Amino acid sequence: MVSKGDFHTHSTASDGRLSPTELVDLVASQGVQYHALTDHDSTQGVAEAIAAGEKYENYHLIPGVEFGTDIEGAEVHMLGLFLSPHDEDLQAKLWELREGRLNRGEGIVNKLREQGKMIEWSRVQEIAGEASVGRPHIAEALVEAGYVKKVADAFDTLIGRNGTAYVKRPNMTPEDAVEFILARGGLACWAHPADMGITDDQVEPILKRLVGVGMQAMEVFYKDYKPATIEMLRLLTVKYDILPLGGSDYHGIFGNDERLPGDIPLPDSSVERLLEFGRTLPNRELVPS
Ligand SMILES: [Zn+2]
Ligand SMILES: [Zn+2]
Repeated sequence: MVSKGDFHTHSTASDGRLSPTELVDLVASQGVQYHALTDHDSTQGVAEAIAAGEKYENYHLIPGVEFGTDIEGAEVHMLGLFLSPHDEDLQAKLWELREGRLNRGEGIVNKLREQGKMIEWSRVQEIAGEASVGRPHIAEALVEAGYVKKVADAFDTLIGRNGTAYVKRPNMTPEDAVEFILARGGLACWAHPADMGITDDQVEPILKRLVGVGMQAMEVFYKDYKPATIEMLRLLTVKYDILPLGGSDYHGIFGNDERLPGDIPLPDSSVERLLEFGRTLPNRELVPS
């Protein structure tokens, strides 16, 4: 069963494999009706995605962004939904974050080279093309050069949080991300809270902090989360009175390790609650009617 909504996907505007048009075609052909494009630090795919979606009667695009933030020993990714690509303050912030990514990407490549993994920064940039450079592009270069078998292995051993060539990014705290998203009139949703170095019992204290600064949602029905994890997260959204959302985090680069858009157990009620809540936001004009 394909879900009616998928609120977390990536295109070539960041580190996804499909162009915004190809992604929208895939998402719509899957039967997903409400789709958020949430590229890392970029809304550059949104205009193309909206245009691509116009040919489908039951398809609606929600513009979004995924922000990466660090806390002690772990990462917190924050989705900003209903953010306008025409907002100049938003674009200034995204530009600044993309500049930071370039420096970080180069730092990781330098570290890899010190460890004898002689990939070229210029090759990583070529792989990224128009997109903002992300670690998956470096992972692809590592696969291509034969240093690892697949992208996931590169993250596990080299460029992920516990990898030998990991470089921390100089950027915002999760609270900064929530406050920024709210100030731009959107909805802040903690993405894949049971990942990125966060243990199950760390979720609630972090959630409490973020709800304290106004975060309105958390990803519960994420990709391949096990039923027990989903239930643990769902109960927390009830306790803290926030929206339980969900997404496939589709990139199109992880092969068998990933789910297709909409292939998540997100209930219709979550989609309806999101749309209803969206109509109370400053950016309500971005909510599909
Ligand atoms: Zn993420
Ligand atoms: Zn993502």
